[in-house]
Amino acid sequence: MNRVVVIGGGISGLSVAYFLAKRGIKTVVFESEKETGGLGRCHRVNGMSVDSGYHVFFKKDKHLLDLLNELKFEKDIVWGNLDFQLITERGNVSFSPLKVISSRSLSFSDKRGLAKIYLKMKNLKDWKFLDKFTAREWVKGNSNNGVYEKVFEPIIKAKWGKDSDRSSAAWFYGRIKPRSGSRNIFGGKERAGYLKGSFRKLFFALEREITNMGGEVITSAKIIKISVKNNRVTSVKYRLGNGLMEIKADLVISTVPVQELLKIAKLPDDFVKRIKKIRYKAVVCATFGLKGSVTDSFRTIFSEKRFFGGLVEMTNLIDKKHFRNNHVLYVFNFLNTHERLWKLKNEEIIETYVDDLEKLYPGSKKHILWSRLYRNRYGEPLYEKDYLRIMPDIKTPVKGLFVTGMVQSYPTSDFNNIIGLASKTSDLVYKEITC
Ligand SMILES: Cc1cc2nc3c(=O)[nH]c(=O)nc-3n(C[C@H](O)[C@H](O)[C@H](O)COP(=O)(O)OP(=O)(O)OC[C@H]3O[C@@H](n4cnc5c(N)ncnc54)[C@H](O)[C@@H]3O)c2cc1C
Repeated sequence: MNRVVVIGGGISGLSVAYFLAKRGIKTVVFESEKETGGLGRCHRVNGMSVDSGYHVFFKKDKHLLDLLNELKFEKDIVWGNLDFQLITERGNVSFSPLKVISSRSLSFSDKRGLAKIYLKMKNLKDWKFLDKFTAREWVKGNSNNGVYEKVFEPIIKAKWGKDSDRSSAAWFYGRIKPRSGSRNIFGGKERAGYLKGSFRKLFFALEREITNMGGEVITSAKIIKISVKNNRVTSVKYRLGNGLMEIKADLVISTVPVQELLKIAKLPDDFVKRIKKIRYKAVVCATFGLKGSVTDSFRTIFSEKRFFGGLVEMTNLIDKKHFRNNHVLYVFNFLNTHERLWKLKNEEIIETYVDDLEKLYPGSKKHILWSRLYRNRYGEPLYEKDYLRIMPDIKTPVKGLFVTGMVQSYPTSDFNNIIGLASKTSDLVYKEITC
């Protein structure tokens, strides 16, 4: 029987192992951390589980919702109204149709420009051609400068910081496109879902199902080498505690960032040259438990430069009763590892965030009950112009080696897309095994 190894126990690794297990293919999942979950991991705070990054989903997220239903989590889904505001020097822009129309921060021509961009995106049949433009080129070419500078540039900067001018129009489309057929992009009535008790539940359930169907999930086990002979994978070497082990592998599915894959496998030069071009943004995300609310939206972004990229107050989406009556606020940055913030210690980042919050929302400091910090060197691939040219296929040029996960979750890196990719990957692996 073929031995299938999955590297990484984030949502990609666990869902691909689960889909394969359902087809009778047992896998061994290796996760280097003590717990599975990757970027979707949670914090434990006073006995409750809180996602370490804000994680929500939408009514049209079919792959994720199907999986949640299959694992009997329907009752744990809570829906709320998602709203979004941009704070500018001249006032606030709230992304709801009525508020955009009445906004004093936008001129008539800006409002017309916004409507134009919205209609363009709404009527788009295929986003792929947008990969050839930066978000700046495309928005400016399709509206007016004011719209880009006053509205979209701050949103893009909040995400990509210093690399915002490189982000592709396809990524921008994925970010802004209507997620629900019943609302337009500036609508305040978009519904977003949250999994009560955090996504830890989903990760536990996937682990349980994989194991019940005969697979294995090994945590604290870091793959340090994928051996390739005659252009075919043969085995993987891993570190578990102080020991080094090696097992035979006929097929390997890597879900780790491609930069990490390059460290553990000797791959063909052309392939290496291509994937080496993929850059990742690191992420720093603090979670605060508060006695009172700080902002009045789910998501708040600032047009002026702030130390943090944005704020998400989860308890403005769903009731605080789901967090033992604590208000939950996320403060985050996507950044490069040479930036000052990345080099700070966790406590220093928290201190800086608290100081900045206090300046913006005086009195917020006294509301803080607890804080936690999550950081990851590989927060998200930088989806820049021409990303499709460097994005690897799921099936690599090395026989038996597959790559899946965030690297192909273009134009949006989210659970839904990633689960869809995991399902596609399981089809390809199944075909390879059975043909
Ligand atoms: C702040 C923030 C907010 C977000 N909000 C949302 C949201 O609202 N909705 C949404 O759907 N998505 C959201 N996302 C995106 C989502 O979290 C990611 O797209 C998803 O978790 C990526 O999953 P993955 O399995 O592909 O990668 P990862 O989660 O990075 O998993 C890779 C795993 O591989 C492991 N690993 C690495 N190297 C090795 C090795 N050598 N051996 C063994 N294991 C290894 C890692 O420890 C990790 O667990 C958010 C992300 C962030 C950072």
